[in-house]
Amino acid sequence: MGHDILPTYEKITGIRKEFNDICPRCGSDKETLIHALKDCPKAREMLVQGGLNNKVLEGSYSWCVDWIEDVARTLDKKAFSDLITMLWNIWNSRNNIVFRETEDDAKVTWDRAAALSWDFQRKQGWRKPDPGMVKINFDANTNGRRICFGVVARDHDGFVLGGRAGVLEKNVQAEWAELHALEESIKFAQTKNWTKLIFESDCVSLINRLNKANVDLSTMGYCIKDILKMLKQCCHFVFSFIWAPHCCNKAADLLCTWASDQNCITDFDMDYPLGIHDIILSDAIN
Ligand SMILES: [Zn+2]
Repeated sequence: MGHDILPTYEKITGIRKEFNDICPRCGSDKETLIHALKDCPKAREMLVQGGLNNKVLEGSYSWCVDWIEDVARTLDKKAFSDLITMLWNIWNSRNNIVFRETEDDAKVTWDRAAALSWDFQRKQGWRKPDPGMVKINFDANTNGRRICFGVVARDHDGFVLGGRAGVLEKNVQAEWAELHALEESIKFAQTKNWTKLIFESDCVSLINRLNKANVDLSTMGYCIKDILKMLKQCCHFVFSFIWAPHCCNKAADLLCTWASDQNCITDFDMDYPLGIHDIILSDAIN
């Protein structure tokens, strides 16, 4: 990127005059590097999905490196490293269209970038919460007309305090299923006397929505606002929502499978289902 040597269509036209320099993804502009990574609607969709604000996406640049330098001044180290990983994935996704004629959904690209970035930074699994905090991992699978969800709450030693797993008769898409799993997590937490909670999920888009609820004007955004209102009014929770890669959410994921076999909603305390024992143990000693 810095040396502007990636083989965009505009670059190739400089060598082979008969080559068409129009962007293969949107078809509406020359495919320069800055177009491919920032200005193309396809790239922009992925950057927005990744939670990058307007400040980063504003401005008109001729050279990609000028944009990168400006952005480097406004983002902190972690966010900047996430952005670079994102751009790498955007370029890969562009190559998939050019060479394989397949394109990933913006959300899939972002999930992949986030997981990759995480892998670079810390090779480890589930993380224990601080003393006094309860961490609740939740997950959901959709399976035809049903949602299977799993919720597991653990303390700072990684001991299971309780959880819930079950099946809901709803025909919804994956992100809505995750939201229903969060609702179940909250309802379960309300039956306990926990006050300081961390909700953890491997669904990037939902965690982004939860942390930016005030600017989310979609239908889901409104549902999330209602859920947050309920959380703030009914209890004295101190709570946060964090994302973790799939490898840190295995206990909740396994509970979804378990729930699918049971075909009912089950609450448990410390006597959690045996099927998740191995993963609970390895998370605790990690
Ligand atoms: Zn384009």
